[in-house]
Amino acid sequence: MRFPAEAATPNSQSPIRWLTDEVLFHYQRCSRRAFLDLYGDRSLQDPPSDYLLKLRQDSTHHRQTILASVQPFHQPTFPAGDWLAGARATLELMAAGVETIHQPVLVCHSSVEGVQLVSQPDLLIKQPGWSCWGNWTYSPIDIKLGKKPKLDYQVVAAYHAYVLSRVQGVWPTASYLALRGGQRYTIELGRLVVKLQATLNGCLRDLRSPQSPELFISHSRCDLCHWFGHCYSEAKANRHLSLLPGVTPARYEFLKQHHITTVATLAQANPAHLAPLPGFGEQVAAKLVHQAQALLDNRAIPRIAPQAPHGFPLWPEDLPEGEVELFFDIEAAPDQNLIYLHGVLVVNRRTGEENFHALLAANPYEERRAWNDFLDLVHSYPHAPVYHFCPYEAQTVRKLGQLYGTPNRHVDSLLERFFDVHRCVTESVTLPIESYALKHIARWMGFDWRDEGANGAQSICWYNAWAETGDRTYLDAILRYNEDDCRATYHVKDWLVNFSQPYWHQLFQGL
Ligand code: SF4
Repeated sequence: MRFPAEAATPNSQSPIRWLTDEVLFHYQRCSRRAFLDLYGDRSLQDPPSDYLLKLRQDSTHHRQTILASVQPFHQPTFPAGDWLAGARATLELMAAGVETIHQPVLVCHSSVEGVQLVSQPDLLIKQPGWSCWGNWTYSPIDIKLGKKPKLDYQVVAAYHAYVLSRVQGVWPTASYLALRGGQRYTIELGRLVVKLQATLNGCLRDLRSPQSPELFISHSRCDLCHWFGHCYSEAKANRHLSLLPGVTPARYEFLKQHHITTVATLAQANPAHLAPLPGFGEQVAAKLVHQAQALLDNRAIPRIAPQAPHGFPLWPEDLPEGEVELFFDIEAAPDQNLIYLHGVLVVNRRTGEENFHALLAANPYEERRAWNDFLDLVHSYPHAPVYHFCPYEAQTVRKLGQLYGTPNRHVDSLLERFFDVHRCVTESVTLPIESYALKHIARWMGFDWRDEGANGAQSICWYNAWAETGDRTYLDAILRYNEDDCRATYHVKDWLVNFSQPYWHQLFQGL
């Protein structure tokens, strides 16, 4: 297999000398991250969160499990950071034909003068075939904590194969990912090599530019990044459009092409002009313009949904009011496949009483008992609507019902009482917020959590810490956080009902 021609820039001066697989990995998720990792002021980095530390610990454990299964192996020894010494030590092991090499260092020239490509797969495994050393070759294996062979993992695995081909004089027969759950995934090198070439060329170009790439806040990729605090404060200061819900990187590029780069210009845009753009459409265009207007004026704007015959989509049956109302939130430990807490806030509208019930599985063996306790509680209020936020609670109730053999008719009749407050909010109103997550919505409406640092990821860490130490403080923190989530859902639901009331009066007067 031949690697297609790289964009050669032989005479240009480059500020970088080594391009590692780690930099290439981060570049795929965010070019700015790769740039800041190389040239940024490290004192501006955030300290790792408990959740990130837990992921690193899990990753180390997974790596050790895989390594134990391929013992014995050789490992090159060299001074830390001295890639050339590492490459020489690795070459000696490869030339000697050892079976398995752990943490090899592979180095070759890039298309840019003065920049070397550095590849450090977790393992090199000896295979039959012909290389510059004789009748053996090596194939790389990367050990990853993920369960799925994500594209960015695959591109890095193709990169290992490419650098290895330059070192041993022949492409490896395969490149592998050792994923969580024990699967070994084989990369389709022929398909990925074109993608690798484009990524590598883009990475070399961007990292040699004197300008850092523009930021784009996307919570799915930024939340675990150590530059988040730095980028977020810059985005806030500039009111960057990526802070608007619905502005994706692709849509942002189109908005820029139409000279819409600020909240103010977007607020004044005509949705009809944006609707034909790829990835927009009438609804998205209108929503984006509303979103900018809401932010600019710091006010909530009712949504006019096409399916609503009278122009306002929030119908009374969407948010029924009962004498007793239940507000429900689940906590789970996904790495243990465990639902360990059903939190239910019972609100009696007539008496004004509010009681929080924590139906807890203090260990995995108690999951069934906690589920049954939850069913007993909700069945003791057979007419009460059950409010939750996002579809997860309803999906989990269905799943637990199947797992523990709860009759379908019981689960179905319970789910008929479920009302998703998130859906009601997003269909009814545009808010001046950055995200339609519960925290952002409820905080804007004046609700606050008792623990500043509490969030879903942190509660996973607390449950792990409770399981390891038996320290009840961790459980108490989870219960407080879960109760606050239930109370936040209650707060949002009441806000929405109050907000919609004047529109309903108007509607009925108009009939
Ligand atoms: S915080 Fe986001 S935009 Fe900033 S470097 Fe990290 S991933 Fe990129």
